[in-house]
Amino acid sequence: MYDYDLIVIGAGPGGSAAALRAGKLGLKCAVVEAREPGGTCVNRGCVSTKTLLHSSQLYHDAANGGAAGIHMEALRADLPEIFQNKRRVAQILSQGVEAMLKAAKIPLLRGRARIEGPHRVSVDGAEVSAEHILIATGAAPVRLPLPGMDLPGVLTSEELLEGLDRLPKSLVVIGGGVIGIEFACFFSDLGVSVTILEGLDRLLPMLDRELGQNLGLILKKQGVQVLPNALVEGCEQTEGGLAVRYTVKGKPGEALGELVLVAVGRRAALDGLFAPGLEPERDGSILKVNDRFETSIPSVYAIGDAASQVQLAHMASAQGTAFAELLGGVKPQTDLSLVPSCVYCRPEIAVVGLTEAEAKARNIPVKVGKCVMGGNARVVIDEPGRCFMKVLARADTRELVGAQLMCPHAADSISQLSAAIANRRTPEELLLPMRPHPSFEESLTEALLDLQRKLDAAL
Ligand code: NAD
Repeated sequence: MYDYDLIVIGAGPGGSAAALRAGKLGLKCAVVEAREPGGTCVNRGCVSTKTLLHSSQLYHDAANGGAAGIHMEALRADLPEIFQNKRRVAQILSQGVEAMLKAAKIPLLRGRARIEGPHRVSVDGAEVSAEHILIATGAAPVRLPLPGMDLPGVLTSEELLEGLDRLPKSLVVIGGGVIGIEFACFFSDLGVSVTILEGLDRLLPMLDRELGQNLGLILKKQGVQVLPNALVEGCEQTEGGLAVRYTVKGKPGEALGELVLVAVGRRAALDGLFAPGLEPERDGSILKVNDRFETSIPSVYAIGDAASQVQLAHMASAQGTAFAELLGGVKPQTDLSLVPSCVYCRPEIAVVGLTEAEAKARNIPVKVGKCVMGGNARVVIDEPGRCFMKVLARADTRELVGAQLMCPHAADSISQLSAAIANRRTPEELLLPMRPHPSFEESLTEALLDLQRKLDAAL
């Protein structure tokens, strides 16, 4: 009756995961994509940023290898080559997504999709039908509605990722969230003078207080100017460069940069997606969905950044898989309420579950175990800056409920804590395995022992 069981709009991490899982469950699917397969993550987001950070980390290591006996003369960062490498990596991964869809015999319909009605989608004007339609169109950077934000040189992260032909001397970053921090690290490591203007009282204000405060100190030590409580009012072109005007507690100030990066959040990418008269309910800037990912339009669903408050690639993939499983009559396996989150600064940051402040706000009695990693052998060798691990457990049941890590490879180490929290493990269960020496993860044993002592003392 319909051309397909499921049409997915968007071949990013969410859409491709949904289509691949639905295909495995026997549904006849197609994916519509207007740009490169892989979506924001591969082409204009996480992977691209991480590739740039890989280059700047290499530069930083070479430039700072003196203490370890490595001396580099004539060190040079070639920005066009760095961006070319970013495009190379994106292309490999984008082609990988395309190949996986092809291997699963899921057609990739190239063009811009518009939802014409509950079972009808047009792709560049040609109509196809499906029993179910999934919106997985992602998000796009927010532009500040302030004077001067359309000046040449005032860029969003997506515009910046298109490439620069040379390094700017200076950069002003508006927004000390994840994107702002990662770009600040990249440019600062390559010798650019960076100023971060953050509206709230610390960097990464959405995370545990100690992480943002610690990172602020580390970046300042590296020469980055960090201005919290800075309310941006506008930008103008002056002889000295782009001047971003702001106030800090009512006191006016000005930050000068050759370029300005605006990184103040992302909003659902829904422009032109619905035929006139077809307007699903929204929740702020995102689509409103229920726990089965249903929008207010019958048989139209949404996942990922288009419909989620948590805008992360792994969240979109997990939602895409869960959506396909629900559609295919299979019980979803992943706990969508427990979302690890990582910042690829130096040292890396990774968090999962509750912070102490969140537990307090919810009246959950918790104890916090902590290890400051100054004595960890790998930290002494690598000198990544002040590192620590924090783990939280309920004071009544001893179940682990949260963790915050700031150390090299934190993004890889966090999964064992996610697994422990998802399976309601106690510190004792995580203390069973031996951890290798020397390793960053040894410090987790110390943090867990500290937590155990505090839980015992509270009995
Ligand atoms: P964000 O919400 O993480 O941070 C935006 C920051 O800008 C906030 O700290 C906010 O207080 C500040 N801000 C807002 N308006 C301001 C103003 N007028 N002046 C000064 N500061 C202002 O947003 P983002 O960094 O743009 O990232 C967007 C999304 O993408 C987030 O959900 C983020 O988690 C996700 N992302 C994740 C990763 C990762 O996981 N490593 C990487 C990139 C992006």
